[in-house]
Amino acid sequence: MQDGPSAFECLMNTCPECGSPNDETLTRCARCNARLPRSADPDAQRPTPDDVEPVKSHTGLVVLATLMFVPFGLVAVVQSAQVNGWYAAGQHDRAERASQLARRWAQAGIIAGLIINPLLIAAAWLT
Ligand SMILES: [Zn+2]
Repeated sequence: MQDGPSAFECLMNTCPECGSPNDETLTRCARCNARLPRSADPDAQRPTPDDVEPVKSHTGLVVLATLMFVPFGLVAVVQSAQVNGWYAAGQHDRAERASQLARRWAQAGIIAGLIINPLLIAAAWLT
C-alpha cells in the first residue's frame, strides 16, 4: 500500500528531498533536515481575500421562488448552485451569467406562484 501519498499524508508537509511526511508545524524535515515548502507561518497558508466582488447566488429569492412555484424554483436552484462553483473555478463570466439566470428564474417563479397558486386554491375550493 505504498502506491502514492495517502489522504493523511497530503495534509502533512511532505519533504521535497526524501518524500517523508512531516508535521505542518515543522519548517525542516525531521528525517533529512531539508527545508520544507510549507512554512509554519500561518499567514502564508491563509488564502488572500479576493479583490473581486463575489457573484450573488440570490439564495433568498431562489428559496422563495421554490416555495411559490416549484418548477421555476428548481431551475433557479440549479443556476444558483452553479454560481459559487463557477466563481471558485475562476470562471467569473459564467458565475455572473448563472447569477443572472438564477435571479430571473426566481423572479419568474415568484410571479408564476402569485398567479397560479390563487387559481389552484380556487380550483381546489370549487371542486
Ligand atoms: Zn526529508
